[in-house]
Amino acid sequence: MPLSPEQQAEIDALRATPAPTLRAVAPGMERHLYVPQPVLDHGFVRVVDYMGDDAAICQAARVSYGKGTKSVQNDEGLIRYLMRHWHSTPFEMCEVKLHVKLPVFVARQWIRHRTANVNEYSARYSILDREFYIPAPEHINSQSKVNNQGRGELLSPEDSARVLEMLKADSTRAYDNYEAMIAEDGIGLARELARMNLPANVYTQWYWKVDLHNLFHFLRLRADAHAQYEIRVYAEEICKLVADWVPFAYRAFEDYRLGAVTLSAQMVEAMRRMLKGEEVTAENCGMSAREWREFMGVVDKS
Ligand SMILES: Cc1cc2nc3c(=O)[nH]c(=O)nc-3n(C[C@H](O)[C@H](O)[C@H](O)COP(=O)(O)OP(=O)(O)OC[C@H]3O[C@@H](n4cnc5c(N)ncnc54)[C@H](O)[C@@H]3O)c2cc1C
Repeated sequence: MPLSPEQQAEIDALRATPAPTLRAVAPGMERHLYVPQPVLDHGFVRVVDYMGDDAAICQAARVSYGKGTKSVQNDEGLIRYLMRHWHSTPFEMCEVKLHVKLPVFVARQWIRHRTANVNEYSARYSILDREFYIPAPEHINSQSKVNNQGRGELLSPEDSARVLEMLKADSTRAYDNYEAMIAEDGIGLARELARMNLPANVYTQWYWKVDLHNLFHFLRLRADAHAQYEIRVYAEEICKLVADWVPFAYRAFEDYRLGAVTLSAQMVEAMRRMLKGEEVTAENCGMSAREWREFMGVVDKS
C-alpha cells in the first residue's frame, strides 16, 4: 500500500494541525484519524472524519440537554440494553467517513450495502494505477465441495503457482493494453471506454460514510466467517477502529450480534427438550437436515 510522498505529506500536515472544538471527541479514534491501515496487498482503510462517541448514543437515547452521561457504568449498561433490544436509532447518531482502497470485485460486494454514502474515484476522469490484487499462496483454495459459495482445501503448490502466474500475466497484459489505448500521443481512446479492459482485481478507491447502526450491520455480515476473505479483512480492520472509537458499543456488538446466534422456534424447543434430558435427533426435531446441522454447529462445538 505505498502512499506517494505527496499523499503522506498531506496526511502529516492534517495530523500536525489540530483545532480546538466543542464537539465530542473520542480519544481512541483521534489516534486513527487520516492514518491508512494496510489491507490486502495494495489496499487500505483510513478514517477521514467521525461524529459522536459512546456518550452520544446515550445522549440520544435519553434525548438529553447535556452530555447524557449519568455514570460510566450507567452508559455501558444503557448501550448494552439498547443493543440487546434492537433499539437502533441511538446508534445512528454516530457516523464515520472512511477512505477505502479496494479491488473492484470486493467493491462490488461492498456497494450492496445501500445504507451508506459513497463517492468513488472516477476512472472516466482519472487514470487507474497499475495495481492489482494478487492473493498470497495461503489464500488460494479450491472450490468448496460443501458450500457452493466458498473455498475448500488449499491448492497444491504447483497449481497455486500456475494460478499466480496466470493472474500476474493477465493483469500485466490488460494494463499494458489499457495504457496503449489511452496514450495521448497514440490511440487516445477515452478513459471511460479503455477501463473496460481492466480485470476485476484492479484497485479502486472511495469515500464511504455510514452511521454506526448500519456499520454494525455491515460488520456482522462481512466480518463473519462466511464472508469472502478479501472483504472480511477490510471488515476486521474496521472492527478494530470501531472498538477504539466507541468501546462500549463495540463490546455490546460483539456480545449481542457478532458472537450471538439466532435460534428458530424449533431450535429453542429442541434445546428445552435436551435440557430435560430427552434424546433429540435429526429425525424427531422438526427441522430440515440443513437446519439440524446448523443447530448442532451451535450446541455442539466439540
Ligand atoms: C455471505 C453473503 C453472501 C451473499 N451472496 C449474494 C449473492 O449471491 N447474490 C447477491 O445478489 N447478493 C448477495 N449478498 C448480498 C446481500 O444479499 C445483501 O445485498 C448485502 O449483504 C447487503 O445487505 P443489506 O441489504 O441488508 O444492507 P443495506 O443495503 O445496508 O441495508 C440495510 C437494511 O436496510 C433495509 N433496506 C435498505 N434498502 C432497502 C430497500 N430498498 N427496501 C427495503 N429495505 C431496505 C433492509 O432492512 C436492509 O437489511 C451476499 C451477502 C453476504 C453477506
